[in-house]
Amino acid sequence: MALADFPRHPLTFGPSPVHPLDRLTAHLGGARVWAKREDVNSGLAYGGNKTRKLEYLVPDALAKGADTLVSIGGYQSNHTRQVAAVAAHLGLKAVLVQENWVDWPDPLNDRVGNILLSRITGAEVRLDPAGFGVGFKPSWERAVEDVRAAGGTPYAIPAGASDHPLGGLGFARWAEEVRQQEEELGVFFDTVVVCSVTGSTHAGMIAGFAAQDRPRRVIGIDASAKLAETRDQVERIARRTAELIDLGRDLRDDEIEVLPGWAGELYGVPVQSTLDAIRLVGRLEGVVLDTVYEGKSMAGLIDLVRDRTIPEGSNVLFAHLGGQPALNAYSALFRD
Ligand SMILES: *Cc1c(COP(=O)(O)O)cnc(C)c1O
Repeated sequence: MALADFPRHPLTFGPSPVHPLDRLTAHLGGARVWAKREDVNSGLAYGGNKTRKLEYLVPDALAKGADTLVSIGGYQSNHTRQVAAVAAHLGLKAVLVQENWVDWPDPLNDRVGNILLSRITGAEVRLDPAGFGVGFKPSWERAVEDVRAAGGTPYAIPAGASDHPLGGLGFARWAEEVRQQEEELGVFFDTVVVCSVTGSTHAGMIAGFAAQDRPRRVIGIDASAKLAETRDQVERIARRTAELIDLGRDLRDDEIEVLPGWAGELYGVPVQSTLDAIRLVGRLEGVVLDTVYEGKSMAGLIDLVRDRTIPEGSNVLFAHLGGQPALNAYSALFRD
């Protein structure tokens, strides 16, 4: 089936904006840096990359008669916040298992930012002390069972909407959207830089761009601090998505590139390069990045532009995937 034949329930405003970051470019002195803004892609609780993925899961949930979306993430999960908002928008219920993925000492970690927004949009939030992991969890199965036992029809959405048959489609479509925007802007993005954790954002892009004639480099920056697992997940989802949209060829190994070096030791805990990137882009551009994801992928982009891995004279597109609400749980880092 071609990508265009999969049912899609629009949850975004339309194509997300693409614009140059000229002051950052001048500061770095190399490739021209652009951003495509998934952080402003929707009116549903600030949107983000998961909202785009959910456009392809929602028709499946509705076709199956679901009345409750069930999902899982950390206390400050952007994903579960987007599931909560989408459920509200559709008139469905949401049950969210929020695990203690990040050992982050902020006393408001389970109250502000994403989790606050999930509560405001009406989700049932279940705090669980289990640690980081994107796999299937007993607490999550219990949540699904509880919905059933109460007479509801659950629709289970895995962490980050990634390990789901349709999880890669949203960003396969993103690749096509980029191609159209390039035509309008008269530019070609030789390199795309994207943050990778549960993997289907990067994986969907790989499958989508692989269908285009002109090759480009799609660099995933690991923010999970578990490189092997992230790469496996990206590879598996990229291949599955490529098959699903009838790419007609196998993906090559060199098309799947996840780079380590900017995640630090732990998922969700920023390091110096993360904070430097957040301050730099905030002060030069007025663009806000978060401590868990985008600050890390931007730190990667900055180094790769500076060391000319991303060549001078080329255009690099930073996929800004959202995530700012989590900053509320990291306020202590920015007091001076
Ligand atoms: C989930 C998320 C990512 C990572 O995307 P995956 O598809 O899980 O790899 C990056 N940035 C933000 C802001 C996110 O919410």
